[in-house]
Amino acid sequence: MSRFLSERYSALIPYTPGEQPQNRKYVKLNTNESPFPPSPGVKDAVFSEAEKLQLYSDPESRLIRQALAEHYGLQIEQLIVGNGSDEILNFAFMAFCDDNTPAIFPDISYGFYPVYAEMNRLPYIEVPLTNDLDICIEDYKTLHGTVFLANPNAPTGRAKSASELEELLKARPDSILVVDEAYVDFGAESMLSLLPKYDNLLVIQTFSKFRSLAGARLGYAAGNPELIRDLNILKYSTNPYNVNRMTSAAGIAALRENEYYRKNAQLIVENREYTERELSSLGFHVLPSKSNFLFAQVPDHDGKGLYLKLKEHGVLVRHFDKKRISDYVRITIGTREQMEILIREIQNILEVNDNEQKS
Ligand code: PMP
Repeated sequence: MSRFLSERYSALIPYTPGEQPQNRKYVKLNTNESPFPPSPGVKDAVFSEAEKLQLYSDPESRLIRQALAEHYGLQIEQLIVGNGSDEILNFAFMAFCDDNTPAIFPDISYGFYPVYAEMNRLPYIEVPLTNDLDICIEDYKTLHGTVFLANPNAPTGRAKSASELEELLKARPDSILVVDEAYVDFGAESMLSLLPKYDNLLVIQTFSKFRSLAGARLGYAAGNPELIRDLNILKYSTNPYNVNRMTSAAGIAALRENEYYRKNAQLIVENREYTERELSSLGFHVLPSKSNFLFAQVPDHDGKGLYLKLKEHGVLVRHFDKKRISDYVRITIGTREQMEILIREIQNILEVNDNEQKS
């Protein structure tokens, strides 16, 4: 028990980010980063912006919002940017939930959702995924509150179609649906094109995955201008300069070089398919993924054991000590070479386990 921490937060269990080891060089497949560096123009853009760091950034972040608006065919008033999509998600919990409007999300999803709810002292409902760890849209249709769905979901990688999610918007016209599309660019359908039809839809995306900018911290939400104004109330009450100059410049440069990222995403999808085949042939149950990671049930059901052994062998994956999913590991898709190392190490570990059992 801390002596000084406000009683408000004394029971808060913070989010545990994936390991970012500084001491040893791992094949790092644990935090769903891109294995590819940012596109060439990003570095120059950041360098030239660094010369102006004596000045605050634009609190309205007009240039990056304008670039996003042009890229996605939106109006600038439909966009807000944040220090990673995490920040925007927090604003959305604060803005669109209260004692009478609970947050609603799956029991297995992005681990930050319950933390945002707890931190902001909001009521929340966790809706169980189906037995095969899928979201059942029907389950949400009659619930009152603000629904947060990651699509594709994390850590499962499973995606719903835009038309299935649209059903939810139609069924709940007076409630907000927040779709967290952090991983949408690896094969899922975005809801952005539905924005003109629904004023209760908020789409959140990030530059951290598809655009290789996890370290820059840049996320955004798109929705009708009323929702964006609501989110701005929270932003201006927290940190008006939430997106710094260099990050904004990096984002603008990355949007200009879209083709580079599209090709990288294509490679990641190919490597995902390769890894899925290999894991399946080794006896893993692999969920169908539309993201840059795979969620795979370990043959002997010892998810933690495999995670620890892989770490010893220099490969980092993610394991969640959580009911229903503790026999799985989540594996970020990297380069082909990285995935071949992963498969080789898993084969070695499974062989040793086999021999130990025989002897
Ligand atoms: N949503 C989901 C589902 C995620 O997995 C992540 C990344 N951990 C985020 C949002 C946040 O990403 P960022 O803050 O880097 O934009």
